[in-house]
Amino acid sequence: MALKVEVDKDACIACGLCWSLCGDVFEQDPETGKTRITAQYIKQDDPSKSTGEVPDELSGCVNDAAGSCPVNAIKVS
Ligand code: SF4
Repeated sequence: MALKVEVDKDACIACGLCWSLCGDVFEQDPETGKTRITAQYIKQDDPSKSTGEVPDELSGCVNDAAGSCPVNAIKVS
């Protein structure tokens, strides 16, 4: 089962933690400086939100990133 991952770009403060903890899934959007889901897993991207579907094998790093985000901008379901 895939995980649904959603980044709230309005909340993201571009601290870079999720990029370093889980670079397979999260990267910096060069236009906004905020986080977006990488091309491999992205489903939808708009100015306020980036949504992706990620395989279970990456749940460890995705959950680490979500748990470490200082503004709780990453939701996993
Ligand atoms: S950890 Fe949170 S605040 Fe930091 S870059 Fe990632 S989404 Fe943005």
